[in-house]
Amino acid sequence: MAKDFDPRRLDVRRFAEEGGQLDASDALGTYPRLVKETVETERRAREVRWHARGEILNPRHVQPEVWVHVEADASVPLVCQRCLQAVDVPLSVDRSFRFVADEATAAAEDDEAEEDLLALSRSFDLVELVEDELLMELPLSPRHDVCPEAVKMSAEDPGFEAAGAEKVHPFAVLGRLKTGK
Ligand SMILES: [Zn+2]
Repeated sequence: MAKDFDPRRLDVRRFAEEGGQLDASDALGTYPRLVKETVETERRAREVRWHARGEILNPRHVQPEVWVHVEADASVPLVCQRCLQAVDVPLSVDRSFRFVADEATAAAEDDEAEEDLLALSRSFDLVELVEDELLMELPLSPRHDVCPEAVKMSAEDPGFEAAGAEKVHPFAVLGRLKTGK
C-alpha cells in the first residue's frame, strides 16, 4: 500500500488520506547540510532513521485536516567545544505538521496555530523536512559529558570532586590550565 509513496516527491494529501507510512534508514551522506556540521573522519557508517505517518483529522471541520507525523533519530559526530575532539551527539525529532492550502494560508494561520504549518504539495520533499528538523536539534555547543583525555575540567563539573580523592582548589586548576598552554 505505502510502497508507492516517494519521500522525495510526496503527494501529501494522498499520503494522509491513505494513512500512509514511510520508514527509512539513510546514510548520513543523504543529508548534505547535516554532513557539513559533522567531523569528517567519523562520518562513515552513520545512519539517519526516520518514520513518517499521514493522517486525516477532520471531525467537525468543513475541511479535513491533513497531518504528517515525523520521527527521526540519528547519532552525529560533532566537535566537542571543550576538548575539540569528536563527540557523538544523539539527535531525536518527534513532530507533527499540519498541511494547509498554500504558503499564504500557512503564514496567515501561523500565529494562532500551536502546531507547525506547511503548505500542501503533490511533490513534497519529506527527506528535506527531516533534515531541517535534525538541523534544528543540533546543540549550539556540543560537549562530552566527560572528555576522553585528562583535559582539565572546570571546578563546577559535577564529576570532578568524585573523581579526585583529594579536594583541588579551583585556582590550582586555573593555574594548571595557564601553564599548560
Ligand atoms: Zn570533549
